Amino acid sequence: MKLFPDADGRVDIRGVYFDNVTDDTAAEAIIKHAKDGGFCAAVFTPNSEIVQLCVEDGTGELYNVINSAALIVPDSTGIVKAAKMFGTPVNGKVAGVELGERLLRESAKECIPVYFLGGKPGVAEDAKARMTEKYPGLRVVGTADGYFDKTGDESTARIDEIARSGARILYVCLGAPAQERWIHDNFDALTNAGVRIALGLGGALDVYAGNVKRAPKLFLALGLEWLYRLMREPWRLGRMTALPRFYLGCRRESKARKKQAKNTKNND
Ligand code: UDP
Repeated sequence: MKLFPDADGRVDIRGVYFDNVTDDTAAEAIIKHAKDGGFCAAVFTPNSEIVQLCVEDGTGELYNVINSAALIVPDSTGIVKAAKMFGTPVNGKVAGVELGERLLRESAKECIPVYFLGGKPGVAEDAKARMTEKYPGLRVVGTADGYFDKTGDESTARIDEIARSGARILYVCLGAPAQERWIHDNFDALTNAGVRIALGLGGALDVYAGNVKRAPKLFLALGLEWLYRLMREPWRLGRMTALPRFYLGCRRESKARKKQAKNTKNND
């Protein structure tokens, strides 16, 4: 089930269906569902690397996982550019880390309890300390690190603990695509645990804890966040080889779509 049921507002980027939202409309829908929703809705923030992983997965399994989200926001300049290339532009990038922080601010106002899951031991606690200081009234009702067996008893124990906490919004920061798989595999358990929004937010807790800095505004404005991350975390180079393949795939698909549209028009 989608937070925005209107399929017209969805944009197909290489088989991943992004919702054409803004920070405002996304935040509003998420908070509303956190308060009144009857099931656990997943919010995913895939970037070009994740879309390319879906393309290259070959089995369709990762597409199923990613497209199962109730809301999918375009968290990268690459996705925004691809949407434009396909002639179906989106409103703009919706950065997961910022969206997550905005939801903390609004949860504080609305008294919605949140839970931080992920990161190395101590990171979620540090994130809680910094964010509760920044947003008075914020209730982070539980924290746990992200290093556990994602399919076994440890996972069940994490969900039991989340259920006991009473959290409505769950920040799942296990890295992509592990976090999306974990949320997807546990939709029913999370619904039964009382969670209404499960956000897949990668390294957001590291940022909230103050361990990792966001790219400076200039890099963000130029769409070069990937370069900044690469400079600080050179081990990302291997993963980033997906970016040129993503771009080339988009170019090929864009040409194919234009050709198909022309043929359809000629046949009418
Ligand atoms: N992480 C985790 N459990 C794991 C593997 C990773 O909690 O089993 C955490 C890791 O400590 C980091 C986050 O997941 O805080 C991944 O951050 P990254 O910026 O790499 O996110 P991505 O780029 O994958 O979205």
